[in-house]
Amino acid sequence: MSSEPLRDGLGRRHEDLRISVTDRCNIRCSYCMPQEVIQFLPRDQLLAYEEIERFVTCVAAVGIRKLRITGGEPLVRTELSQLIARLVQVPGIQDIAVTTNGILLTEQALALRAAGLHRLNISLDTLDETKFRTITRRTGVHRVLDGIRAAQAAGFDRIRLNAVAIKGLSEDDIIPLTEYARQAGLELRFIEFMPLDADKNWQTQQVLTGSEIRAIIESRWGPLHEKPRPHASQPARDFEYDDGRGRVGLIHPVSQPFCGDCNRIRLTAEGKLRNCLFSTQEWDVRELLRQNVHQDRIVELVRDCLHHKKPGHGIDDPNFLRPERAMYQIGG
Ligand code: SAM
Ligand code: SF4
Repeated sequence: MSSEPLRDGLGRRHEDLRISVTDRCNIRCSYCMPQEVIQFLPRDQLLAYEEIERFVTCVAAVGIRKLRITGGEPLVRTELSQLIARLVQVPGIQDIAVTTNGILLTEQALALRAAGLHRLNISLDTLDETKFRTITRRTGVHRVLDGIRAAQAAGFDRIRLNAVAIKGLSEDDIIPLTEYARQAGLELRFIEFMPLDADKNWQTQQVLTGSEIRAIIESRWGPLHEKPRPHASQPARDFEYDDGRGRVGLIHPVSQPFCGDCNRIRLTAEGKLRNCLFSTQEWDVRELLRQNVHQDRIVELVRDCLHHKKPGHGIDDPNFLRPERAMYQIGG
């Protein structure tokens, strides 16, 4: 097998794999899931942990270094810590993070830490229970806050909070979230709303842009100072507060796309490989894994997927086509 690193047609080297482990979730964020899901994937269609481990072993041999475990809500998948324990052992893998809504962290933080998980990204859009219910159609912001404390107590020291910001909904949450994150010593990043909601209600006018979010933050904390990006592929622009107490980041895929330096590929819960959140084409990894083919065939499929990667997502193109899948079915 060629051990050439994974590159797409534009020469972008790919080192980052996002793995969705389920399309199920214990809440129903309106920018992601429909109110009621008609059907989740049947269990036998999900990749088993051994299958995920085999795929990661194949791609780590050609340069994948970072893993992000996501969903749906990854902590609703049985014994997620067992998958983490397998993946930390794969030669070449240097960094594993889980992206979670935090609801089940109180119960699972210790096991995840013990399994060797490096980082947690926790989604938190508001501190207000009523607003939480509006956004997620469920209750439980206190469970997320308890989960964050449990994660800190378990020894996670690189916890990042992610907040999706939507115009007309999120403006009042921005300053309280910055206050909370500064006090708790957590990094916070705001993400623009992308056209991946299951209900297909997304409209450009609902995007609270990175610059609008920045203006709200600066109205409270004074000028933000941009930090150099450690890696060109990092989607967020990070800023230091004027008083030097902590950092805040902005991810603006819609108003200022960062596709030029993208180094990410994505594996859905049922084993379909995607070269972009917005791709309309997928490559079937599960079929190859279940045929128990040689590692070379799997890497060949990944190279083919990358070969078809486009320069950008094209959200602002008048001919933009949304993917059929919503965020919870892809893995954000
Ligand atoms: N359930 C986990 C969570 O919420 O953290 C992991 C999966 S979720 C799909 C991953 C991330 O995608 C979350 O931070 C979520 O807020 C974000 N997200 C979901 N739908 C989005 C959308 N339409 N636009 C922008 N971000 C979105
Ligand atoms: Fe669930 Fe995460 Fe989607 Fe919210 S964003 S519905 S928590 S998968």
